[in-house]
Amino acid sequence: MLMLLGAMQDWTLRVTHLIDHAAREHGGREIVSRWADGSESRTNWAGIRRDAMRMANALRALGIGRGERVATLAMNHHRHLITWYGAVGAGAVLHTVNPRLFDDQLDYIVNHAEDRVLLFDKVWAPIVERMKRRWPTIEHYICFDSDEPAPHFEDWIGAYSAEGAWAEGDERDPCMLCYTSGTTGNPKGVLYEHRSTMLHALTCLSPGVFGMDCRAVMMPIVPMFHAASWGLPWAGAAAGAKFVYSAVNDAAVLCDLFEREKVTCSAGVPTVWLSLLQHLDATGKEIPETLQQVVCGGSAMPRAMVERFMAKGIRVSHAWGMTETSPIGTTGCETWNWDDLSFEEQVTAKAMQGRVPFGVELRCVDLGDADTVLPRDGVTAGALQVRGPWVVKRYFKAERDATGADQWFDTGDVAVIHPDGTLQLTDRTKDVIKSGGEWISSVELENAAVGHPAVAEAAAIGIFHPKWDERPLLVVVRKPGSEVSESELRSYLAQHVAKWCVPDAVAFVDEIPHTGTGKISKKDLRDRFRDYAWAA
Ligand code: AMP
Repeated sequence: MLMLLGAMQDWTLRVTHLIDHAAREHGGREIVSRWADGSESRTNWAGIRRDAMRMANALRALGIGRGERVATLAMNHHRHLITWYGAVGAGAVLHTVNPRLFDDQLDYIVNHAEDRVLLFDKVWAPIVERMKRRWPTIEHYICFDSDEPAPHFEDWIGAYSAEGAWAEGDERDPCMLCYTSGTTGNPKGVLYEHRSTMLHALTCLSPGVFGMDCRAVMMPIVPMFHAASWGLPWAGAAAGAKFVYSAVNDAAVLCDLFEREKVTCSAGVPTVWLSLLQHLDATGKEIPETLQQVVCGGSAMPRAMVERFMAKGIRVSHAWGMTETSPIGTTGCETWNWDDLSFEEQVTAKAMQGRVPFGVELRCVDLGDADTVLPRDGVTAGALQVRGPWVVKRYFKAERDATGADQWFDTGDVAVIHPDGTLQLTDRTKDVIKSGGEWISSVELENAAVGHPAVAEAAAIGIFHPKWDERPLLVVVRKPGSEVSESELRSYLAQHVAKWCVPDAVAFVDEIPHTGTGKISKKDLRDRFRDYAWAA
């Protein structure tokens, strides 16, 4: 029998189409960079494409070929954006390295990735100096904003022509490599493909996700080294949006840029938004009028923050995702009956982790029995699994797939799925506390604890208990100048969580340990309290 083939054009889903489109259709749309020293640079999508082509030619001259890794150690600015497109344009794989990782992690991932070129900000030169001898695969160092201790980026690409063609290849070729923060064991590399990145970028444009078009003025506060900057550098080119970048995350600088550049949408983790709101409070300023949308993810967005933005008429998009999901998994897209909900109901919904866009599938399975798929009843918590075309299948250089034959990827998160598809994260599988056969959510305890006016930060961990198997210990950092006792805090919590979940004890500390991506390191906390003994 003759196989009937489709008769449409070949147009491989390669990310270089994004920058070609941006330069052709939105060439004049601005890209603004604010540097750490206060100076600013302005270019546009046509300029980004021109310089990316120069960089691709410069990489070719160094002999960097298809699939080879080009690393960056840099904050957010247009030269970093040029590098994203320049590296993939040469057919190489862009590897964004998080400068906040510890030396051993930096050692591991650069060697594991076998990076050949490293482009870095001057501010990270001490890391380069320290790590150089541990990074034997790196042959070339380029500095983004200085001509020492390595050649200046502009001088390097300036010697090459802006003419030429992008590398061609298959849409399943890799284009980008990101490592997970790795709170346990070695970090793991996620190798994105051109195809997965393109599909992800198209999804990012949809109204339920970033809803971006060429009128948008986007300020990604999420670093370009964190989970592909949530896909914004790719999706922004498809939209032709104006981009505003800051190489420093200082609240005063960001607020000034919001106002001057008329930012309409911005994306960042909750701690960034928290410091922005604190800055506004301290200076008596208002949230800028032009801001229409706030995208927040990476950790849970506190309800009070959701409410504050929504009260100003700002659309809140509380997103959940992981490096392994490119990273968009869910966003705060509204339900069909959104306008019928009260303000309180809307805030409650937005304080959860949102709903999937087309392309992502979610399910929860029993924590003790992965074959039992749990109902989407808004009550039953289980291990969250995800699948879709931009979800990892196999970690870089791993011998086995990270998923089973049915492609479901275990996220390590514990969640409840509501009947309308809204995801509500309740914990990480490693952090959930098992007491007398019942699961206690450490996240619920932490959220309740930070609601107390004297608590700056809180973390709950399970400690071995001879009768209950595990019981929760709450570790608390008090706000400067505030006082609260253990019994006061426990009485407060008893009003906010089920009685049997109230932590048996509270340990006050000066500081809670964090990972390189700013999340609470439960592993370090567990190590610290390993020998903790309950009072008789
Ligand atoms: P990373 O790969 O470093 O971005 O970390 C991914 C993990 O961050 C997820 O598996 C979640 O545990 C956590 N996470 C991401 N977004 C959220 C969110 N909106 N609320 C709570 N936790 C989140």
